[in-house]
Parts: sequence; structure tokens; C-alpha cells
Amino acid sequence: MKIGFIGLGIMGKPMAKNLLKAGHEVVGYDIVKENVDNVVAAGAKPASSAKEVAEQCSIIITMLPNSPHVKEVVMGENGILEGAKPGTILIDMSSIAPLASQEICKACEAKGVKMIDAPVSGGEPKAIDGTLSIMVGGDKAVFEQVYDILMVMGSSAVHCGDIGAGNTTKLANQVIVALNIAAVSEAFMLATKAGVDPQLVFDAIKGGLAGSTVMNAKAPMIMEGNFEPGFKIDLHIKDLNNVLETGHSVGSPLPLTAAVMEMMQTLHADGYGQKDHSALAKYYEKLANT
Ligand code: NAD
Repeated sequence: MKIGFIGLGIMGKPMAKNLLKAGHEVVGYDIVKENVDNVVAAGAKPASSAKEVAEQCSIIITMLPNSPHVKEVVMGENGILEGAKPGTILIDMSSIAPLASQEICKACEAKGVKMIDAPVSGGEPKAIDGTLSIMVGGDKAVFEQVYDILMVMGSSAVHCGDIGAGNTTKLANQVIVALNIAAVSEAFMLATKAGVDPQLVFDAIKGGLAGSTVMNAKAPMIMEGNFEPGFKIDLHIKDLNNVLETGHSVGSPLPLTAAVMEMMQTLHADGYGQKDHSALAKYYEKLANT
């Protein structure tokens, strides 16, 4: 297949490369030229706008930071809808607000373009391995049509409901991840202050009930003080903002999310916005004055 790929950042680059490895043709676009050059070196063809991608491809994947970026790329000047033919399928794999997915989908439908939302979990390592968890919203027939393409990038792809349901699922995922990192940071600081090495705590508890994929991935980073992203604090703030807005609109209480959001915003103000979300541990260092 000839697949358009727009948004070639930390996640988009390896995902596009996996499509190439699987034998697909990829037409890539990003506002940062080095990111396009990177996938062109792996065999992709470059495009100079989202419109140009849409003129060449009947399947287009977007992997962009947030709702305004996806709206601009799809509905804006030189955007996908200016170049797309009716019948084109748009797979938006960015993590954005479910309401934005619904709005963008409506604009797509008006031009005969079919859209599904298909955000992912797993981060850069799983994007590289092609083992992302993919959560999908939208027309089930379209999901089934592109299932094999999704499974090049992921090890699972679950249809969760109508358009926006993929992003609602992703928001639930982001609540669990954020709270889990905060819990690990809080517990490690308690152990440190009480005189027990966090490495020993990790070794002792990782096989028990407190063990988790999040702790396995983030505890070593916290203990090494290595906060290179990975998943940036600023992107997690974006997701928690979408969680809080969605929660308020549907009447779902989010007291713990609100607390972790405050921590992340403090870290952003302290200059950690571009660091990995495991830098939540720095918030506890600040509180504990260590
Ligand atoms: P990133 O910032 O590394 O990549 C985003 C890319 O989009 C950048 O290369 C940027 O130049 C490009 N871009 C922005 N505006 C554009 C435009 N108008 N036209 C074309 N390109 C544009 O971010 P990322 O980490 O790759 O994340 C992408 C999405 O995936 C986000 O929604 C994020 O929340 C989600 N996500 C990230 C991770 C992770 O671990 N990094 C994990 C799961 C999901």
C-alpha cells in the first residue's frame, strides 16, 4: 500500500519505518525537515505539505502532538482535506481530545473522507519494536479494513466504540500511567528518607502486587536520575488537560488526576517540560528538600 505519514517525531519516525520494513510505500511530511530526511533515508518519499500527502495517498496516518495540530493538518490551509479524494481513509494515531476527534471526523465526512481515531500506548521502545497497544474509535468496517496496517505498528488493536472512543480509552490509560509514576516516586522518597535503598525496594516488590509495567519502565530512570524522553512532561500535561476537560464535561470526578496535574505543572515551571514524565520524582525531591 502507499501510505501517507504526517508527524515524524519520537513516535512517528519508528512507526513509519516499520511500515517501510513491512513493504509499504510511505510518503512522509513533518514541519521539521530533519524528521522528513530521517525517514527518507530509510526509504520514504518526501512531501512538502499535508495536502501533497493527501493528493498521493488514499490511506493517511497522522501522529501529531495535540488537537489543534491535527485540526490544522486536516482542516487547515494546505491540509489533508484540500488534497484528499473521496474514499480516503485517515487514521489519526495522535493522542487528542475525544471531542476534537468527533469534530475532525465530521469535517472529513463532509468531504467523503473516512476517519478513525487510533491512539497508542507503549512509548518509543514499543514504537520501534512494532508492539504498540492501539485503541480505536470509529466505523468498525473501516477499522477492519486497516487492521493489518495497524498490526504492523502494534501487537494489539482493539475497537473501543464510535469515533473518539479510542482517545477516551487513551485518556484512561494516561490517568493510570501518571498516577502510577507519582505513586512510585512517592514510595521511593519514603524509602530513601527512612533509610532503605530504592533499588532494594524495587527488587523486593516488583514481583508482588505493587509491580507494574510502569514501575518496571520508570523506576530505573528515577534511580539513575535519567530523565531523557521518552514521553515528555509537556505531552502528559496535554493529556491530563484533556482528561480534566473530558471529566468535567461528562461529570466524572478526578481528584488524583488534578493533584498529579499540579505536580506536572510545577515541573514545567521548573524547566522539566521537555524531560520524561518519570521526572515526577524531581517534584518529590523538591518537596523533601533532598
Ligand atoms: P513529537 O513532538 O516527538 O512529534 C510530533 C511531530 O509532529 C513533530 O515531529 C512535529 O514537528 C510534528 N508536527 C507538529 N505540527 C505539525 C504540522 N502542523 N504539520 C506536520 N508536522 C507537525 O511527539 P511524539 O512523542 O512523537 O508524540 C506524538 C503523539 O503520540 C502525541 O499525541 C503523544 O501524546 C502520543 N504518544 C507519545 C508517546 C511517547 O512515548 N512519546 C507514547 C504514546 C503516545
